Amino acid sequence: MKAYEIKKLIKFYSASATLGEIFEDFGRPYECPQCEGTGFYQKKVVVPYPRGLPDSGWVPDSIEYKRSQCELCDGHGYSDKEYKPKMVQDGWQEN
Ligand SMILES: [Zn+2]
Repeated sequence: MKAYEIKKLIKFYSASATLGEIFEDFGRPYECPQCEGTGFYQKKVVVPYPRGLPDSGWVPDSIEYKRSQCELCDGHGYSDKEYKPKMVQDGWQEN
């Protein structure tokens, strides 16, 4: 954070506001489960092996992890919505 940004915050919230109060005012009480509050996460990117080479089709695509801004919380790390994991129903079993 830059000095002028802090100055702007002070002007907006008054110098005596605590960081906790400012955070509450932000209206994002829920920690984002995808980036765990950091605003960034390692996005899985599939890099396809180039076509037209002698070993194309034999060599598997490579998978890279790229540091990406979290799109679930817009990079805030916290959200105004509470996210829960999606449960996928997968067949039935006898209890
Ligand atoms: Zn997030």
